[in-house]
Amino acid sequence: MGRILVVEDSPTNMMLTVEILGFGKHTVLQASNAAAGIDIARKEQPDLILMDIQLPDMDGVEATKILKADAETRDIPVIALTASIKNGEESILLAAGFDACITKPIRYKELLARVDRVVNRSSDPNDD
Ligand code: MN
Repeated sequence: MGRILVVEDSPTNMMLTVEILGFGKHTVLQASNAAAGIDIARKEQPDLILMDIQLPDMDGVEATKILKADAETRDIPVIALTASIKNGEESILLAAGFDACITKPIRYKELLARVDRVVNRSSDPNDD
């Protein structure tokens, strides 16, 4: 179980993601644009960020570069939520600082498996 920040401007995708994370007993923080996401990441220090790429103010790649350049947020893992991954795009995302990518449409099992892997890796095994 972790605290997950979801940065996503589509209300439908946000609702679905929040519901899935809820089934995994995660606590969800929500932002519908990049600036709000960066602000919440700094203040709340979530265990993981799920970052949409196409956002209304700046794209998720730019937002992740900002998070990874800031000592306060650079250790928070960021998973990209992307519409599709064409050849070479995944390496561009990883080079930008993303820790992993998930392609949309979001699938229940894949999302929870990816999130659990990151959250369990970063939490103290003696902590639960
Ligand atoms: Mn979007």
